[in-house]
Amino acid sequence: MAGLSERMRQMVRPELKDFEPYDPAFVPCDINLSANENTWPAPAGLSAAVREALATVPLNRYPDPLANELRDAIAAWHGVERENVLVGDGGDELLFLLFLAFGGPGRVLVDCPPSFTVYGLYASMVGTTVEQVWRDPETMLPDLEALVDAGRRADLVAVTSPNNPTGDAIARGDIERLLDACPGLVLVDEAYGEFSEAGTALPLLRTHDNVVVLHTLSKAFGMAGVRLGYLLGPADVIDALSAVRQPYSVGVLPQAAALAAVEHRDDALAQVAAIREERERLRAGLLGLGLTVWPSDANFLLVRVPGAHEVRARLATDFSILVRDFSQAPGLADCLRITVGTPAEDDAVIRALAALVGKEC
Ligand code: PMP
Repeated sequence: MAGLSERMRQMVRPELKDFEPYDPAFVPCDINLSANENTWPAPAGLSAAVREALATVPLNRYPDPLANELRDAIAAWHGVERENVLVGDGGDELLFLLFLAFGGPGRVLVDCPPSFTVYGLYASMVGTTVEQVWRDPETMLPDLEALVDAGRRADLVAVTSPNNPTGDAIARGDIERLLDACPGLVLVDEAYGEFSEAGTALPLLRTHDNVVVLHTLSKAFGMAGVRLGYLLGPADVIDALSAVRQPYSVGVLPQAAALAAVEHRDDALAQVAAIREERERLRAGLLGLGLTVWPSDANFLLVRVPGAHEVRARLATDFSILVRDFSQAPGLADCLRITVGTPAEDDAVIRALAALVGKEC
């Protein structure tokens, strides 16, 4: 909180003084491939169903705090019961609840950076100790043995599959090993799971009582603006999280939009197959420029570009293309993360990068 007044520095809890507001460093650009959103036009059926649902929602009443209709639809989709589902104001809210309920002073989180930094952020907000098992700096893959070993001493383990920003997915067998070894709770964050061919960890809900799986409508469903995530897990874990959530964090509009989207999920999932193919085309284009591009199971690519910081700035100023700069982040020197866009957007990125790194394309 760098800009805090002296009065506030005295008043705010001392452990929180170094926190800063989340800032995605957004710069208005014609092409925005910086936040792993789905930039494709929304499938017509899904889009019409969502708009129709929103048009008839009464706004004068509070939402169902338990969101039971939506939980039932999600449960039926994934072959679980309502008691195994919790919905939140984006996946982010559900992550926060996990740390609120299961983290805290004296508790240990294990994660595998470079990964989604929000885990560490929320962990430290509630005073959780963070133990980091770093990925291999070249392959960017996690060290499973080290992870399993650290997991034995953890209260909470966060694995991201596919991982943001490296793009790799973890095999279900590896997650199973982790669940067997870990006495605490294991979060499998599948925010990008629909884009992966590695398969979901959901079947492990039937065999293990220490796994929770996070999904979101922000990515494959193209509904990042709606803010709707959901967590699947054992009923007692869902109960514990429900007890600490805000009663009305998911409003009537997100509940109605999400219900319509879940009912039209086939439209969204059909588009995901096309985005996956486009991902491989973009990857081939970037490899053709001589750049390092890690394989990805998600809707984005991690790319190593010499002089990435400057290249990112020039992409924005000279080509009006926004990508995410990770070049200053630990373990990600000269790395940019590029969301898979539409074919036209991706062609523009390839052309712009070709011009900036001095290659023909
Ligand atoms: N997990 C991962 C790995 C993510 O990248 C994100 C979004 N950037 C989220 C969870 C949270 O997504 P949302 O809050 O939009 O549902």
